[in-house]
Amino acid sequence: MNIGIVGLGLIGGSLGLELRSLGHRVLGVSRREQTCELAVARKIVDDADVDMSLMATAEVVYICTPIAAIARAVELLIPHLSPTAIITDVGSVKMPVVEAIAPLWPNFVPAHPMAGTEESGLDAAVFNLFAGRSYVFTPVETTPFSALDTVEEIARALQAKVYRCTPQEHDRAVAWISHLPVIAAASLIDACTHEASPAVLDLAKKFASTGFRDTTRVGGGNPELGLMMAKYNRQELINSLCGYRDRLDWFITQIEQQNWDALSATLHHTHQTRPGFLTSQD
Ligand code: NAP
Repeated sequence: MNIGIVGLGLIGGSLGLELRSLGHRVLGVSRREQTCELAVARKIVDDADVDMSLMATAEVVYICTPIAAIARAVELLIPHLSPTAIITDVGSVKMPVVEAIAPLWPNFVPAHPMAGTEESGLDAAVFNLFAGRSYVFTPVETTPFSALDTVEEIARALQAKVYRCTPQEHDRAVAWISHLPVIAAASLIDACTHEASPAVLDLAKKFASTGFRDTTRVGGGNPELGLMMAKYNRQELINSLCGYRDRLDWFITQIEQQNWDALSATLHHTHQTRPGFLTSQD
């Protein structure tokens, strides 16, 4: 197939590497000339340009720009597309993307490959990024079955685990397991920095080890990503944060009142339920 990728960064570049290795002809469009030249030189795409007219022969186009640029990229793309072309996206939040793109192009397949690293840009593109990872499809009423089948088939060829749900369910689920952890970890780091004694804070920094590293990792990542989650999945993030605050209040109460049995029962419960959230890493 002729496959287009708009936005040659971590996700777009990784897709290009993989799709070429599967025998597809890959056409890339990115914002900067320099990125386009590098993508061709590194054989991430067969051809690249900053102009959307390159997409005229594409049968499927992956929109891999930051979420804020998706709608504009699709508006610029549409005049050049064949009427049968499929547009799909990789945005980490689905409702705002679906609301913006579904009315513009009926052959649209909203999706989110749940794969990534802490790096960004074309230099961060890696081979095999999607193998074994969840690839979530969030079709809406207007999504044609044939288009959905085509993009899901490509996801399976990338060895990803394919799931389907509504955009609302997707955004609510990722608020719990991806967006809440970022804000919870960021607030944990922020809380530590508010220690009143500089000497104690200095000691805490020296003593911090694997436990602190593991619980704060996602709170110390790319600030742009945290901001994106808060802006585009705002209501679901607020809901999950309020749920989390309720549970924190409950824990504080049990400790204040020395309700050790209740605390112990809940810690046993979390010990047992945690593996259920990590099955995709098996
Ligand atoms: P990224 O590494 O920053 O790559 C995006 C690339 O798009 C940039 O490098 C930029 O390339 C290009 N670009 C920016 N604006 C553009 C525009 N208007 N038109 C064309 N190209 C443009 O970002 P990413 O991490 O790959 O994320 C891309 C998408 O994947 C986002 O929608 C994100 O929600 C989603 N996603 C990310 C992850 C993750 O873990 N990072 C995981 C799953 C899904 P140049 O400026 O160099 O041309």
